[in-house]
Amino acid sequence: MPDAKGPARALILFGPPGSGKGTQAKLLKECLAIPHVATGDMLRERIQRADDLGLVIKRLIDAGELVSDELINRMVEERLSLPDCEKGFILDGYPRTLGQAETLCQTLRRLGASWFVVHLKVDYNIIIRRLAGRRFCPQCGAVFNVYFQPPSRPGVCDLCQSALLTRDDDRESVIRRRLEAYEAQTRPVLDFLIKDGGGSFVEVDGASEAPAVIAQRICELARIVK
Ligand code: ADP
Ligand code: ZN
Repeated sequence: MPDAKGPARALILFGPPGSGKGTQAKLLKECLAIPHVATGDMLRERIQRADDLGLVIKRLIDAGELVSDELINRMVEERLSLPDCEKGFILDGYPRTLGQAETLCQTLRRLGASWFVVHLKVDYNIIIRRLAGRRFCPQCGAVFNVYFQPPSRPGVCDLCQSALLTRDDDRESVIRRRLEAYEAQTRPVLDFLIKDGGGSFVEVDGASEAPAVIAQRICELARIVK
């Protein structure tokens, strides 16, 4: 059993769409034994309820726009108050605006939690191919890439043989909008988090090695960086 509850720690995965935040978070949650809180996944789950709010969210995501801070902040706040987040959590896709960053910093201070920001840096041209080439399995959730990690049979999941799909927001026109939203609204968040001074910060090359090697490096850093 883990002993006494130390203060919680937020690992904030920061980077543009396609920098590998989701892939890293899935590997890191095993190595750090803390939950993965992904606002994009939470929103896609919310869409499944197929009510009015779900429809509003779907329209925004499919247009490459961001969902309102109010909704996202509330969703995250609820998620972080669940008992499994007591020791820490991995944030993937949040905070994405200055408004979200301010709310998060207040929440973390209230929880007495520190934060560790990992900036995943990836070349723009690689990002475009990662997003445009991404295919996912609706059945088992496996993710492939037609350029970097093709399935053995084109369009078919290696694990469960289901037909692979492309996320609606991975279409080229939407990818461009998402990257613009990143530049305009999300990139400034990094400076905010660094200047705020309540946490530590590292930059990691998100493309030159296999995902597992990158995750190993982040995991070690998370253990030694205060
Ligand atoms: P990616 O990081 O590759 O863009 P995500 O799955 O994190 O993919 O997000 C998909 C979409 O969900 C975003 O383009 C945006 O519309 C919405 N979204 C996710 N997280 C947030 C957030 N923190 N604030 C506002 N919108 C968000
Ligand atoms: Zn599958």
